[in-house]
Amino acid sequence: MRIIPTEAEAADLRGQALDFCYKTIPSTVRGLERQGTMSDGDSGAFFQALGMAGWIGRHWPVEYGGRSATHVETAIVDEALGYARAPLSAYLLSVKVFGNSLMLFGTAAQKSKYLPMIAAGDAMFCQGFSEPMAGSDFGSLRTTAVKSGDEYIVNGHKIWTSSAEVATHMYLAARTDPQAVKHRGISLFALDMKTPGITVNSFPTLGGGVLNEVFFENARIPAENLLGDENRGFHQAMRSLDLERSCMDRVGAARLSLDRLVEYVGQDGSDGAGGRLGDVKAVQEKIGELRTKLQVARSFGYLIARNLDAGKGVSAEFSFGKLYVGLLTQAIADATVDIVGTLAQFEHGSAHAIFDGLFPAVYRASPALTLAGGSSEIQRGVIAVRGLGLPR
Ligand SMILES: Cc1cc2nc3c(=O)[nH]c(=O)nc-3n(C[C@H](O)[C@H](O)[C@H](O)COP(=O)(O)OP(=O)(O)OC[C@H]3O[C@@H](n4cnc5c(N)ncnc54)[C@H](O)[C@@H]3O)c2cc1C
Repeated sequence: MRIIPTEAEAADLRGQALDFCYKTIPSTVRGLERQGTMSDGDSGAFFQALGMAGWIGRHWPVEYGGRSATHVETAIVDEALGYARAPLSAYLLSVKVFGNSLMLFGTAAQKSKYLPMIAAGDAMFCQGFSEPMAGSDFGSLRTTAVKSGDEYIVNGHKIWTSSAEVATHMYLAARTDPQAVKHRGISLFALDMKTPGITVNSFPTLGGGVLNEVFFENARIPAENLLGDENRGFHQAMRSLDLERSCMDRVGAARLSLDRLVEYVGQDGSDGAGGRLGDVKAVQEKIGELRTKLQVARSFGYLIARNLDAGKGVSAEFSFGKLYVGLLTQAIADATVDIVGTLAQFEHGSAHAIFDGLFPAVYRASPALTLAGGSSEIQRGVIAVRGLGLPR
Protein backbone atom coordinates (compact mmCIF):
# COMPACT_ATOMS: atom_id res chain seq x y z
CA MET A 1 0.00 0.00 0.00
CA ARG A 2 1.21 3.50 -0.79
CA ILE A 3 1.89 5.56 2.33
CA ILE A 4 1.64 9.37 2.25
CA PRO A 5 4.85 10.78 3.80
CA THR A 6 4.80 12.41 7.23
CA GLU A 7 5.90 16.06 7.62
CA ALA A 8 9.37 14.92 8.72
CA GLU A 9 9.72 12.51 5.80
CA ALA A 10 8.55 15.21 3.40
CA ALA A 11 11.13 17.66 4.77
CA ASP A 12 13.84 15.01 4.45
CA LEU A 13 12.90 14.20 0.84
CA ARG A 14 12.76 17.91 -0.05
CA GLY A 15 16.22 18.42 1.52
CA GLN A 16 17.71 15.47 -0.37
CA ALA A 17 16.32 16.69 -3.71
CA LEU A 18 17.60 20.22 -3.11
CA ASP A 19 21.05 18.92 -2.07
CA PHE A 20 21.22 16.86 -5.24
CA CYS A 21 20.38 19.90 -7.37
CA TYR A 22 22.84 22.21 -5.65
CA LYS A 23 25.65 19.65 -6.09
CA THR A 24 24.71 18.72 -9.66
CA ILE A 25 23.59 21.93 -11.33
CA PRO A 26 26.98 23.70 -11.40
CA SER A 27 28.54 20.85 -13.33
CA THR A 28 25.68 20.32 -15.77
CA VAL A 29 24.52 23.83 -16.62
CA ARG A 30 26.40 26.82 -17.85
CA GLY A 31 25.08 29.59 -15.63
CA LEU A 32 22.09 30.86 -13.74
CA GLU A 33 20.88 33.07 -16.55
CA ARG A 34 20.08 29.95 -18.57
CA GLN A 35 18.14 28.33 -15.77
CA GLY A 36 15.11 30.56 -16.28
CA THR A 37 14.51 28.96 -19.64
CA MET A 38 11.93 26.37 -20.64
CA SER A 39 14.34 24.47 -22.82
CA ASP A 40 18.04 24.30 -23.47
CA GLY A 41 20.78 21.78 -23.95
CA ASP A 42 21.51 21.84 -20.22
CA SER A 43 18.24 20.12 -19.49
CA GLY A 44 19.57 16.99 -21.25
CA ALA A 45 22.69 16.78 -19.09
CA PHE A 46 20.64 17.44 -15.96
CA PHE A 47 18.09 14.78 -16.96
CA GLN A 48 20.85 12.16 -17.28
CA ALA A 49 22.23 13.15 -13.87
CA LEU A 50 18.75 12.83 -12.36
CA GLY A 51 18.35 9.36 -13.87
CA MET A 52 21.72 8.14 -12.65
CA ALA A 53 20.86 9.29 -9.13
CA GLY A 54 17.44 7.58 -9.16
CA TRP A 55 15.21 10.68 -9.09
CA ILE A 56 13.19 9.92 -12.23
CA GLY A 57 9.79 8.21 -12.35
CA ARG A 58 9.73 7.26 -8.67
CA HIS A 59 5.93 6.95 -8.76
CA TRP A 60 6.10 4.28 -11.49
CA PRO A 61 5.93 0.61 -10.46
CA VAL A 62 9.21 -1.09 -9.56
CA GLU A 63 9.01 -3.38 -12.62
CA TYR A 64 9.11 -0.27 -14.82
CA GLY A 65 12.14 1.28 -13.15
CA GLY A 66 10.23 3.25 -10.50
CA ARG A 67 9.88 2.92 -6.74
CA SER A 68 6.08 2.83 -6.45
CA ALA A 69 6.32 6.17 -4.61
CA THR A 70 3.20 8.27 -4.02
CA HIS A 71 2.21 11.22 -6.20
CA VAL A 72 2.66 13.37 -3.11
CA GLU A 73 6.33 12.33 -2.95
CA THR A 74 6.73 13.15 -6.64
CA ALA A 75 5.12 16.54 -6.02
CA ILE A 76 7.61 17.20 -3.20
CA VAL A 77 10.54 16.32 -5.48
CA ASP A 78 9.13 18.40 -8.36
CA GLU A 79 8.67 21.40 -6.08
CA ALA A 80 12.28 21.07 -4.89
CA LEU A 81 13.60 20.78 -8.48
CA GLY A 82 11.68 23.94 -9.37
CA TYR A 83 12.96 25.74 -6.27
CA ALA A 84 16.53 24.92 -7.29
CA ARG A 85 15.70 26.36 -10.74
CA ALA A 86 16.95 23.18 -12.33
CA PRO A 87 16.66 23.03 -16.16
CA LEU A 88 13.69 20.66 -16.35
CA SER A 89 12.42 20.62 -19.92
CA ALA A 90 13.70 17.12 -20.77
CA TYR A 91 12.56 15.75 -17.39
CA LEU A 92 9.06 17.18 -17.64
CA LEU A 93 8.46 16.00 -21.20
CA SER A 94 9.95 12.54 -20.65
CA VAL A 95 8.26 11.82 -17.32
CA LYS A 96 5.14 13.92 -16.91
CA VAL A 97 4.08 13.95 -20.53
CA PHE A 98 5.34 10.79 -22.24
CA GLY A 99 6.00 8.38 -19.36
CA ASN A 100 2.81 9.14 -17.44
CA SER A 101 0.78 8.90 -20.67
CA LEU A 102 2.35 5.52 -21.40
CA MET A 103 1.27 4.37 -17.94
CA LEU A 104 -2.31 5.22 -19.00
CA PHE A 105 -2.51 3.78 -22.50
CA GLY A 106 0.74 2.01 -23.41
CA THR A 107 0.94 -1.77 -23.81
CA ALA A 108 2.86 -3.82 -21.23
CA ALA A 109 5.63 -4.29 -23.84
CA GLN A 110 5.87 -0.52 -24.49
CA LYS A 111 5.99 0.24 -20.75
CA SER A 112 8.70 -2.38 -20.23
CA LYS A 113 10.70 -0.96 -23.12
CA TYR A 114 10.54 2.78 -22.46
CA LEU A 115 9.88 3.45 -18.77
CA PRO A 116 13.06 1.82 -17.38
CA MET A 117 15.14 3.66 -20.03
CA ILE A 118 13.55 6.97 -19.03
CA ALA A 119 13.96 6.24 -15.31
CA ALA A 120 17.67 5.58 -15.89
CA GLY A 121 18.04 8.87 -17.79
CA ASP A 122 18.90 7.02 -21.01
CA ALA A 123 15.77 7.82 -23.08
CA MET A 124 14.81 11.49 -23.30
CA PHE A 125 11.54 12.44 -24.99
CA CYS A 126 10.48 15.63 -26.69
CA GLN A 127 6.83 16.28 -27.57
CA GLY A 128 5.90 16.73 -31.24
CA PHE A 129 2.34 17.99 -30.99
CA SER A 130 2.31 21.65 -32.14
CA GLU A 131 2.58 22.65 -35.80
CA PRO A 132 2.67 26.03 -37.57
CA MET A 133 -1.13 25.96 -38.08
CA ALA A 134 -2.02 23.75 -35.11
CA GLY A 135 -1.22 24.99 -31.61
CA SER A 136 -4.35 25.66 -29.56
CA ASP A 137 -6.27 23.98 -32.36
CA PHE A 138 -4.41 20.68 -31.98
CA GLY A 139 -7.01 18.84 -34.08
CA SER A 140 -5.85 20.73 -37.20
CA LEU A 141 -2.43 19.10 -37.33
CA ARG A 142 -1.25 18.13 -40.82
CA THR A 143 1.77 15.89 -40.31
CA THR A 144 0.82 12.51 -41.76
CA ALA A 145 1.73 8.94 -40.79
CA VAL A 146 0.72 6.57 -43.58
CA LYS A 147 0.63 2.84 -42.84
CA SER A 148 2.82 0.79 -45.16
CA GLY A 149 3.19 -2.87 -44.18
CA ASP A 150 4.49 -3.01 -40.62
CA GLU A 151 5.61 0.63 -40.65
CA TYR A 152 4.17 4.15 -40.72
CA ILE A 153 5.81 6.70 -43.03
CA VAL A 154 5.85 10.21 -41.57
CA ASN A 155 5.93 13.52 -43.47
CA GLY A 156 5.36 16.99 -42.08
CA HIS A 157 6.58 19.78 -39.82
CA LYS A 158 6.45 20.33 -36.04
CA ILE A 159 7.27 23.59 -34.28
CA TRP A 160 8.01 24.91 -30.75
CA THR A 161 9.42 21.47 -29.89
CA SER A 162 11.24 21.88 -26.56
CA SER A 163 14.36 19.76 -26.09
CA ALA A 164 14.26 18.25 -29.62
CA GLU A 165 17.91 19.28 -29.90
CA VAL A 166 18.86 16.83 -27.12
CA ALA A 167 16.04 14.27 -27.16
CA THR A 168 16.64 10.63 -28.07
CA HIS A 169 12.92 10.10 -28.84
CA MET A 170 9.81 12.05 -29.75
CA TYR A 171 6.24 11.59 -28.54
CA LEU A 172 4.65 12.29 -31.92
CA ALA A 173 1.09 13.15 -32.94
CA ALA A 174 0.31 12.58 -36.63
CA ARG A 175 -2.69 12.21 -38.89
CA THR A 176 -3.35 8.57 -39.79
CA ASP A 177 -6.78 9.02 -41.43
CA PRO A 178 -6.97 12.12 -43.65
CA GLN A 179 -10.61 11.31 -44.56
CA ALA A 180 -11.91 11.38 -40.96
CA VAL A 181 -13.24 14.58 -39.31
CA LYS A 182 -10.28 16.39 -37.85
CA HIS A 183 -10.42 15.14 -34.24
CA ARG A 184 -10.87 11.53 -35.27
CA GLY A 185 -7.95 10.72 -37.58
CA ILE A 186 -4.98 11.38 -35.26
CA SER A 187 -2.63 8.79 -33.72
CA LEU A 188 0.27 8.92 -31.28
CA PHE A 189 3.70 7.31 -31.65
CA ALA A 190 7.06 6.87 -29.99
CA LEU A 191 9.71 7.86 -32.52
CA ASP A 192 13.47 7.35 -32.33
CA MET A 193 15.09 10.70 -33.18
CA LYS A 194 17.93 8.90 -35.00
CA THR A 195 15.43 7.70 -37.63
CA PRO A 196 16.58 8.80 -41.12
CA GLY A 197 14.46 11.64 -42.56
CA ILE A 198 14.32 13.87 -39.44
CA THR A 199 15.82 17.40 -39.42
CA VAL A 200 15.92 19.58 -36.29
CA ASN A 201 16.46 23.36 -36.47
CA SER A 202 16.96 25.27 -33.21
CA PHE A 203 16.15 28.95 -32.68
CA PRO A 204 16.71 31.20 -29.67
CA THR A 205 13.86 32.34 -27.40
CA LEU A 206 13.09 35.33 -25.20
CA GLY A 207 13.84 33.17 -22.15
CA GLY A 208 17.46 32.68 -23.26
CA GLY A 209 17.17 29.04 -24.34
CA VAL A 210 16.13 27.44 -27.60
CA LEU A 211 13.02 25.95 -29.17
CA ASN A 212 13.04 23.81 -32.31
CA GLU A 213 11.23 23.04 -35.49
CA VAL A 214 11.36 19.47 -36.70
CA PHE A 215 10.88 18.32 -40.30
CA PHE A 216 9.98 14.77 -41.37
CA GLU A 217 10.67 13.46 -44.83
CA ASN A 218 9.60 9.84 -45.24
CA ALA A 219 10.68 8.98 -41.68
CA ARG A 220 9.69 5.37 -40.91
CA ILE A 221 8.23 4.26 -37.58
CA PRO A 222 7.71 0.55 -36.74
CA ALA A 223 3.97 -0.10 -36.35
CA GLU A 224 4.59 -1.49 -32.85
CA ASN A 225 5.44 2.10 -31.79
CA LEU A 226 1.80 3.18 -32.17
CA LEU A 227 0.63 4.26 -28.70
CA GLY A 228 -2.93 3.43 -27.77
CA ASP A 229 -5.55 3.02 -30.48
CA GLU A 230 -5.06 4.13 -34.08
CA ASN A 231 -7.10 7.27 -34.87
CA ARG A 232 -8.01 7.78 -31.16
CA GLY A 233 -4.95 9.95 -30.51
CA PHE A 234 -6.86 13.20 -30.03
CA HIS A 235 -8.49 12.05 -26.80
CA GLN A 236 -5.29 10.41 -25.57
CA ALA A 237 -3.34 13.60 -26.35
CA MET A 238 -5.82 15.67 -24.31
CA ARG A 239 -5.03 13.41 -21.35
CA SER A 240 -1.29 13.88 -21.98
CA LEU A 241 -1.78 17.65 -22.01
CA ASP A 242 -3.59 17.41 -18.67
CA LEU A 243 -0.58 15.59 -17.24
CA GLU A 244 1.79 18.19 -18.71
CA ARG A 245 -0.13 20.88 -16.82
CA SER A 246 0.63 19.54 -13.34
CA CYS A 247 2.54 22.39 -11.82
CA MET A 248 4.57 21.68 -8.68
CA ASP A 249 7.92 22.49 -10.32
CA ARG A 250 6.49 25.88 -11.27
CA VAL A 251 5.22 26.39 -7.73
CA GLY A 252 8.77 25.73 -6.49
CA ALA A 253 10.31 28.17 -8.98
CA ALA A 254 7.75 30.86 -8.08
CA ARG A 255 8.50 30.30 -4.42
CA LEU A 256 12.22 30.83 -4.95
CA SER A 257 11.57 34.10 -6.81
CA LEU A 258 9.38 35.39 -4.01
CA ASP A 259 11.79 34.21 -1.27
CA ARG A 260 14.62 36.10 -2.99
CA LEU A 261 12.48 39.23 -3.30
CA VAL A 262 11.65 39.06 0.41
CA GLU A 263 15.35 38.55 1.20
CA TYR A 264 16.37 41.50 -0.96
CA VAL A 265 13.84 44.02 0.38
CA GLY A 266 14.87 43.07 3.94
CA GLN A 267 18.47 44.15 3.34
CA ASP A 268 19.81 47.52 4.52
CA GLY A 269 20.33 49.79 1.53
CA SER A 270 17.77 47.99 -0.67
CA ASP A 271 15.93 51.30 -1.15
CA GLY A 272 19.11 52.87 -2.61
CA ALA A 273 19.33 55.38 0.28
CA GLY A 274 20.49 53.25 3.21
CA GLY A 275 17.02 52.11 4.21
CA ARG A 276 15.02 48.96 3.48
CA LEU A 277 12.37 48.58 0.80
CA GLY A 278 10.75 46.07 3.12
CA ASP A 279 9.79 48.91 5.50
CA VAL A 280 7.51 50.43 2.86
CA LYS A 281 3.86 49.57 3.57
CA ALA A 282 2.91 49.21 -0.10
CA VAL A 283 5.81 46.76 -0.61
CA GLN A 284 4.72 44.71 2.41
CA GLU A 285 1.15 44.56 1.14
CA LYS A 286 2.16 43.50 -2.36
CA ILE A 287 4.43 40.77 -1.03
CA GLY A 288 1.74 39.62 1.42
CA GLU A 289 -0.74 39.32 -1.45
CA LEU A 290 1.69 37.31 -3.61
CA ARG A 291 2.59 35.02 -0.69
CA THR A 292 -1.09 34.27 -0.11
CA LYS A 293 -1.56 33.36 -3.77
CA LEU A 294 1.54 31.20 -3.71
CA GLN A 295 0.17 29.28 -0.73
CA VAL A 296 -3.09 28.71 -2.64
CA ALA A 297 -1.14 27.36 -5.64
CA ARG A 298 0.97 25.10 -3.44
CA SER A 299 -1.97 23.71 -1.49
CA PHE A 300 -3.84 23.10 -4.73
CA GLY A 301 -0.85 21.23 -6.23
CA TYR A 302 -0.67 18.93 -3.22
CA LEU A 303 -4.45 18.43 -3.29
CA ILE A 304 -4.16 17.17 -6.88
CA ALA A 305 -1.36 14.80 -5.83
CA ARG A 306 -3.41 13.47 -2.90
CA ASN A 307 -6.41 12.94 -5.18
CA LEU A 308 -4.22 11.01 -7.65
CA ASP A 309 -2.95 8.84 -4.80
CA ALA A 310 -6.54 8.22 -3.72
CA GLY A 311 -7.38 7.09 -7.27
CA LYS A 312 -9.78 10.01 -7.82
CA GLY A 313 -10.27 11.40 -11.33
CA VAL A 314 -8.31 14.59 -11.96
CA SER A 315 -8.82 16.53 -15.19
CA ALA A 316 -9.78 20.24 -15.37
CA GLU A 317 -7.96 20.70 -12.02
CA PHE A 318 -4.67 20.47 -13.94
CA SER A 319 -5.75 23.43 -16.07
CA PHE A 320 -6.71 25.42 -12.96
CA GLY A 321 -3.25 24.82 -11.46
CA LYS A 322 -1.38 25.61 -14.67
CA LEU A 323 -3.36 28.79 -15.34
CA TYR A 324 -2.96 30.01 -11.78
CA VAL A 325 0.77 29.33 -11.39
CA GLY A 326 1.60 30.79 -14.83
CA LEU A 327 -0.18 34.04 -14.05
CA LEU A 328 1.27 34.11 -10.53
CA THR A 329 4.84 33.66 -11.81
CA GLN A 330 4.32 36.62 -14.14
CA ALA A 331 2.81 38.67 -11.31
CA ILE A 332 5.84 37.95 -9.08
CA ALA A 333 8.24 38.87 -11.90
CA ASP A 334 6.35 42.10 -12.64
CA ALA A 335 6.18 43.08 -8.95
CA THR A 336 9.91 42.37 -8.50
CA VAL A 337 10.87 44.67 -11.36
CA ASP A 338 8.44 47.28 -10.03
CA ILE A 339 9.66 47.12 -6.40
CA VAL A 340 13.42 46.63 -6.89
CA GLY A 341 13.63 49.04 -9.85
CA THR A 342 16.82 49.56 -11.83
CA LEU A 343 18.86 46.96 -9.95
CA ALA A 344 16.42 44.28 -11.10
CA GLN A 345 17.61 44.91 -14.67
CA PHE A 346 21.20 43.68 -14.29
CA GLU A 347 21.94 40.36 -15.91
CA HIS A 348 24.07 37.41 -14.82
CA GLY A 349 27.71 38.46 -15.27
CA SER A 350 27.18 42.10 -14.30
CA ALA A 351 28.89 43.39 -11.15
CA HIS A 352 25.54 44.93 -10.16
CA ALA A 353 23.48 41.76 -10.65
CA ILE A 354 21.37 40.75 -7.66
CA PHE A 355 21.27 37.00 -6.94
CA ASP A 356 23.36 36.39 -10.05
CA GLY A 357 20.74 37.90 -12.37
CA LEU A 358 17.80 35.83 -11.13
CA PHE A 359 15.22 38.63 -11.42
CA PRO A 360 15.67 39.49 -15.14
CA ALA A 361 15.97 35.76 -15.99
CA VAL A 362 12.59 35.06 -14.37
CA TYR A 363 11.05 38.17 -15.96
CA ARG A 364 12.07 37.05 -19.45
CA ALA A 365 11.08 33.43 -18.97
CA SER A 366 7.69 34.01 -17.32
CA PRO A 367 5.52 34.86 -20.39
CA ALA A 368 6.27 31.41 -21.86
CA LEU A 369 4.56 29.79 -18.86
CA THR A 370 1.23 31.19 -20.03
CA LEU A 371 1.71 29.55 -23.48
CA ALA A 372 3.66 26.29 -23.19
CA GLY A 373 1.34 23.34 -22.48
CA GLY A 374 -1.63 25.38 -23.76
CA SER A 375 -2.36 29.10 -23.45
CA SER A 376 -4.20 30.72 -20.54
CA GLU A 377 -7.27 31.26 -22.74
CA ILE A 378 -7.38 27.55 -23.52
CA GLN A 379 -7.08 26.67 -19.78
CA ARG A 380 -10.02 28.98 -18.98
CA GLY A 381 -12.05 27.22 -21.66
CA VAL A 382 -11.17 23.77 -20.23
CA ILE A 383 -12.20 24.87 -16.74
CA ALA A 384 -15.52 26.25 -18.04
CA VAL A 385 -16.40 23.37 -20.34
CA ARG A 386 -14.82 20.25 -18.85
CA GLY A 387 -14.75 21.45 -15.25
CA LEU A 388 -18.10 23.20 -15.00
CA GLY A 389 -20.06 21.53 -17.78
CA LEU A 390 -20.74 24.69 -19.79
CA PRO A 391 -21.53 24.15 -23.50
CA ARG A 392 -18.60 23.45 -25.85
C1 LIG B 1 8.35 27.88 -24.29
C2 LIG B 1 7.42 27.04 -25.08
C3 LIG B 1 7.65 25.66 -25.16
C4 LIG B 1 6.81 24.87 -25.94
N1 LIG B 1 7.10 23.53 -26.04
C5 LIG B 1 6.34 22.74 -26.85
C6 LIG B 1 6.68 21.36 -27.03
O1 LIG B 1 7.64 20.85 -26.47
N2 LIG B 1 5.91 20.63 -27.87
C7 LIG B 1 4.81 21.13 -28.51
O2 LIG B 1 4.14 20.39 -29.21
N3 LIG B 1 4.48 22.45 -28.36
C8 LIG B 1 5.21 23.26 -27.55
N4 LIG B 1 4.89 24.59 -27.39
C9 LIG B 1 3.79 25.14 -28.15
C10 LIG B 1 2.56 25.49 -27.32
O3 LIG B 1 1.85 24.33 -26.97
C11 LIG B 1 1.72 26.44 -28.18
O4 LIG B 1 2.46 27.64 -28.30
C12 LIG B 1 0.38 26.73 -27.60
O5 LIG B 1 -0.44 25.58 -27.62
C13 LIG B 1 -0.32 27.86 -28.38
O6 LIG B 1 -0.35 27.55 -29.74
P1 LIG B 1 0.18 28.61 -30.84
O7 LIG B 1 1.51 29.09 -30.40
O8 LIG B 1 0.04 27.98 -32.16
O9 LIG B 1 -0.80 29.83 -30.71
P2 LIG B 1 -2.31 29.93 -31.28
O10 LIG B 1 -3.04 28.64 -31.05
O11 LIG B 1 -2.24 30.44 -32.67
O12 LIG B 1 -2.88 31.02 -30.33
C14 LIG B 1 -2.54 32.41 -30.44
C15 LIG B 1 -3.37 33.16 -29.41
O13 LIG B 1 -4.78 32.98 -29.67
C16 LIG B 1 -5.43 32.47 -28.52
N5 LIG B 1 -6.44 31.46 -28.90
C17 LIG B 1 -6.28 30.47 -29.82
N6 LIG B 1 -7.40 29.72 -29.87
C18 LIG B 1 -8.27 30.24 -28.96
C19 LIG B 1 -9.58 29.90 -28.53
N7 LIG B 1 -10.23 28.85 -29.06
N8 LIG B 1 -10.16 30.64 -27.56
C20 LIG B 1 -9.51 31.71 -27.04
N9 LIG B 1 -8.25 32.09 -27.40
C21 LIG B 1 -7.65 31.36 -28.35
C22 LIG B 1 -4.35 31.78 -27.70
O14 LIG B 1 -4.70 31.76 -26.33
C23 LIG B 1 -3.14 32.68 -27.96
O15 LIG B 1 -3.15 33.78 -27.11
C24 LIG B 1 5.70 25.43 -26.62
C25 LIG B 1 5.45 26.79 -26.51
C26 LIG B 1 6.30 27.60 -25.76
C27 LIG B 1 6.01 29.06 -25.67
